[in-house]
Amino acid sequence: MAKLVRGFRDIFGPEAAALTALESSARKVFKLYGVSELRIPTVEQKELFVKATGTTTDIVQKEMYSFEDAGHRLLALRPEGTPGVARAYIENNFAQGSPVQQFFYIGNMFRAERPQAGRYREFEQIGAEFLGNPAPAADAQAILLLKDIMKDFGVKHYSVKINSLGCEKCRPLYRQALIEYLSSSKDDLCDLCKDRLERNPLRVLDCKIDGPKFKESAPKMALCPECEEHFSQVKKLLDGKIEYIVDPCLVRGLDYYTRTVFEFQAGESSQNAIAAGGRYDTLIKSMGGADIPAVGWAMGAERTCAALGSLPDCGEKKVYVVSLEKDCNEYAFNIMQTLRDAGIITEGGLFDKNIKGQMKQADRTKASLAVIVGGTEKERGTAELKDLTSGEQKEYLISELAAAIKNIK
Ligand code: ATP
Ligand code: MG
Repeated sequence: MAKLVRGFRDIFGPEAAALTALESSARKVFKLYGVSELRIPTVEQKELFVKATGTTTDIVQKEMYSFEDAGHRLLALRPEGTPGVARAYIENNFAQGSPVQQFFYIGNMFRAERPQAGRYREFEQIGAEFLGNPAPAADAQAILLLKDIMKDFGVKHYSVKINSLGCEKCRPLYRQALIEYLSSSKDDLCDLCKDRLERNPLRVLDCKIDGPKFKESAPKMALCPECEEHFSQVKKLLDGKIEYIVDPCLVRGLDYYTRTVFEFQAGESSQNAIAAGGRYDTLIKSMGGADIPAVGWAMGAERTCAALGSLPDCGEKKVYVVSLEKDCNEYAFNIMQTLRDAGIITEGGLFDKNIKGQMKQADRTKASLAVIVGGTEKERGTAELKDLTSGEQKEYLISELAAAIKNIK
């Protein structure tokens, strides 16, 4: 028998329900913000991620599922959504009408990392990208959009950290300062970070091994006046609308971030980031597009569901239909369809089992009501409606059954 591949999962029961509920919350809030859906493919050219996500990232260095297809094309399962969105934006000439576009995506991502709680090889991301708006209002909207999804879904306990990584003007100075600082401890760096030191020293601070060692004492970013102004405007727009912490140690693992970066965190583990994002003003241009600024984020759906704990009981009642005799099976089956037509959640149809077996199944499905029919009911055009909590039972005409069920609190 074939087995599940390590790091991949079957998702069912309450977790599947929570993911679906999160997706509905997200879709509802995206609509409120005028963000429209972009369905990007699961497979892209490997080169897209190498170039966009960046060669010094964990994703490209260690985590990508890449392969050669039968046509000798070098492809990869998407490890994140932003490069695909950026590619689609350029390739479909979305900027032609207006460069300002707001997209969201919902889909599974793939990363070959070491599986552990909250870290899977296939996981779901819900992401948003605000393209074409350089103003601090775009950064603030992106962050508030994420907050509103958390609120609608019901996640209460999380913290929001923000920082600015500067721009092409101020970052080089900071890079240099970091390289100097980290070079004195080069022997203490992990092998990957030794290699990253010169190419992208910010990555060292985001490394799971070396970050905690050097983050606190490393020199902090000194922003140029424009970046300083941008960051203070973002903070001003957020003030009073969301609680946040300015964390000068917050750096992000991806190569493309500029200016604002942020992370929503829940809990203390190293899998505590439930969502993360930032501004990426140079990415579209670096990929061959126009000079289009952008800001976006991606939320880890499984981690966000875990941060919720359990889904509140939605209190929807379910009906289970039971047939007492073979002759009534069709009659019972038709009742099931009538109730569904009336919008009532209905299960049943296990008519080969005796009453005990059918009632046991009613219990398993957590139905609160049973509709029971036998020869007498069929003859009279009625059904018995049983409240499975109180045990109370009453006969109703089929024409009145749905209304009676809806009336029960
Ligand atoms: P981490 O620091 O935990 O490795 P990351 O920086 O790699 O996260 P991003 O690329 O920013 O994560 O992805 C955004 C979000 O996607 C994360 O905040 C997290 O919630 C989720 N995520 C990332 N990798 C995984 C994974 N392997 N399994 C489940 N969720 C993940
Ligand atoms: Mg990671």
